[in-house]
Amino acid sequence: MSEGERLITPRRLSGEEALDEQIRPRRLDEFVGQPRLKENLRVFIEAARLRAEPLEHVLLFGPPGLGKTTLAYIIAGEMGAGIRCSSGPILERPVDLAGVLTGLVAGDVFFIDEIHRTNKAVEEFLYPALEDYTIDVMIDRGPGARSERIGLCRFTLVGATTRSGLLTAPLRSRFGMAFRLDYYPAEELARIVERSARILDVPVEPESAREIAGRARGTPRIANRLLRRVRDFAQVEGRERVDLAITRYALDRLEVDARGLDEMDKRILLTIIDKFGGGPVGGSTLAVAVGEDARTLEEEYEPLLVQEGFIQRTPRGRTATALAYRHFGRRPSRPGQAELDLGGEDR
Ligand code: ADP
Repeated sequence: MSEGERLITPRRLSGEEALDEQIRPRRLDEFVGQPRLKENLRVFIEAARLRAEPLEHVLLFGPPGLGKTTLAYIIAGEMGAGIRCSSGPILERPVDLAGVLTGLVAGDVFFIDEIHRTNKAVEEFLYPALEDYTIDVMIDRGPGARSERIGLCRFTLVGATTRSGLLTAPLRSRFGMAFRLDYYPAEELARIVERSARILDVPVEPESAREIAGRARGTPRIANRLLRRVRDFAQVEGRERVDLAITRYALDRLEVDARGLDEMDKRILLTIIDKFGGGPVGGSTLAVAVGEDARTLEEEYEPLLVQEGFIQRTPRGRTATALAYRHFGRRPSRPGQAELDLGGEDR
């Protein structure tokens, strides 16, 4: 693998990832849900196409697995353009970036995943590239060293981040449009499961698709993963179709509960309830207690737990809500505790 390839090919596809690629929607029409985002994006793509110009730079933000990479591919597909993919942490030096940028042809989409993790030098190098499609590169070393301006083809940067709050203001201002992806309601996830099942040629009954959808943490990637695991159970059990019984059996074996909470979600909630008396507990303390990295906890687990009303983030830390106590059949140890958290009222 050449140096250039290393930088734009973050990882070799394992079997699972190859399956992911197979079911990834390629056109905007195949992208399920997120109706507002889709309609706006459609207008902007159409307008850019009418003007025969590349789309302005696009920022996508939201938790992992909701379709940011997929949308980058769709944008390229709808614009009839090529795509190159990289990610913040692997672009270590401006020279890495220069190699990729000069390789782009007019209209190409350049996708940077985890763009909040690009370092300052790389980020600053990116500014003129985004603004007027030029970069300054150093020619020679030592006393003869000089900087030379190189023109680039007009391209579209699609940046993805799980943490828009960590993006610097100058970087954010270079994007012509920003879209936020939200967790998917169960009926949309069911449509995603049915679509993936068709592509993978797995006969899934509608109620099984709904069951999987209801337990997928609002996340297409998880819904697709659960579908594949349920299919494994069905195959081993010699079932021709994935019916509700085998689906429930498989999901229970995978310890995915009826509200879609996975093992880590449950561990987080029970730790707040049992070890910290319901909270408040600070993010880093909680991370140590559950044995997870603080950032992963904040980006991947907490958003859904907050959205579903299991925890609240307060200035003093995380607290478990009455719903969380009920979910585990527990009662708050201090009278009135947890009820205080209901409805987010400050009393
Ligand atoms: P992210 O980049 O946000 O982490 P991805 O774009 O990699 O997420 O999406 C994860 C998987 O979920 C992909 O394989 C894709 O097939 C599927 N997926 C995501 N969003 C949708 C959607 N709206 N409709 C259908 N499938 C989706």
